[in-house]
Amino acid sequence: MNTLVINTGSSSIKYQFIDMPFGTVLCTGLVERIGEEKGIITHRKLIEGENLDVVYDENIATHEIGMERVASLLTDSHYGVITNTSDVKLVGHRVVLGGEKFSTTSIITSEVKSTIEKLSVIAPLHNPPNLTGIHVAEQIFTDALQVAVFDTSFHHTLPDYAYRYALPDHFYTEHDMRVYGFHGTSHQYVTGRAAIMLKKNVDDINLITIHLGNGASITAVKNGKSIDTSMGMTPTPGLVMGTRVGDIDPGVLIYMQESLGINIKEIKRIINKESGLKGLTGFNDVRLIQELYLKGDQKAELALNLYSYRIKKYIGSYLAIIGNVDAIVFTAGVGENSDIIRKMATDNLSHLGIQLSEELNTSKSKIERDISSETAKIKTFVIPTNEEFEIARQAYDIFTKQDIF
Ligand code: ADP
Repeated sequence: MNTLVINTGSSSIKYQFIDMPFGTVLCTGLVERIGEEKGIITHRKLIEGENLDVVYDENIATHEIGMERVASLLTDSHYGVITNTSDVKLVGHRVVLGGEKFSTTSIITSEVKSTIEKLSVIAPLHNPPNLTGIHVAEQIFTDALQVAVFDTSFHHTLPDYAYRYALPDHFYTEHDMRVYGFHGTSHQYVTGRAAIMLKKNVDDINLITIHLGNGASITAVKNGKSIDTSMGMTPTPGLVMGTRVGDIDPGVLIYMQESLGINIKEIKRIINKESGLKGLTGFNDVRLIQELYLKGDQKAELALNLYSYRIKKYIGSYLAIIGNVDAIVFTAGVGENSDIIRKMATDNLSHLGIQLSEELNTSKSKIERDISSETAKIKTFVIPTNEEFEIARQAYDIFTKQDIF
């Protein structure tokens, strides 16, 4: 079935056209710099043996125009794969925050849209563009079932003692302030793949899944369900990230305001855009920091130490709350590619059952693999994430169920 997966940001539309349930990707693309003077559209038609790429730079004033361009590329006789927009039968939208209301993927209705809008107070950077993406896709792909797949829903199974903050009660009861967690589609995707690698039913596996992209989060998975995760009500806490600070004493932020006179808007910018690896080294690209580290740069060394130390602390605490862990899983840009970070984050954990094979860890590969040593009690896997496929899978699942009832 022709399924379009859409991830709409404030100035971008990322898309994949996938044939479900096979998961064959037919087209991928990115519309960037929407609303700026010069926009960029990068589109790829995937053909066995040779891909067909095209790049346009042109003004894309609105998301609606951007989505129309996506539609015209998908129906293009050369670069496209369908003849008419009505050939798209299913659209899966990535929506960042589903709040408490959405524990699963949902068919988009006006109620769903109004809830996504209400939740924009908590996710002001993500939910409004996600909603725009839904509105424009509804106008263009009129014959498709539109489905929202929430980044938070995998974490819906967190127990109250994990998702509540120890703040006065009314902050939760009246203002919905709690841990929601993010990167849910990625954690869920690698959980499914790890079950296959372990040759077990997903409900029978315990994992620690570590998503290390520009944003980073770690999740404790017990019996296939998320029971704790490092991001919170917002994506700021937890691991050290490309530009986000991760866990920090809230008193530090109060000090920045009260004693250094930095206003709250600027503090927000500092902890989300200027901190993490960028704050420590000036760069947020792990590849660059690794190069500097290997040349003996001390700032880079500190940054990588801090980054991997934080991961290790979380691994330790999640081992304590899960009990028997079958595997830890590294995923996303850094997790999939950096043997240095994987080694630093798991060094000296053999007493806990985690030990990498030096050879398997350092060998380059793009496929999912087991990199643990033969004697390790807990497996260490590297599993390339595929959030688009997971969104398509969940949307397809709901589509087929809808057909039945
Ligand atoms: P996001 O989707 O969150 O933007 P990605 O999952 O693509 O991010 O990951 C981006 C990060 O992956 C960057 O910090 C980049 O440096 C890192 N990365 C990509 N390739 C490598 C590599 N070969 N070695 C180390 N880090 C890498």
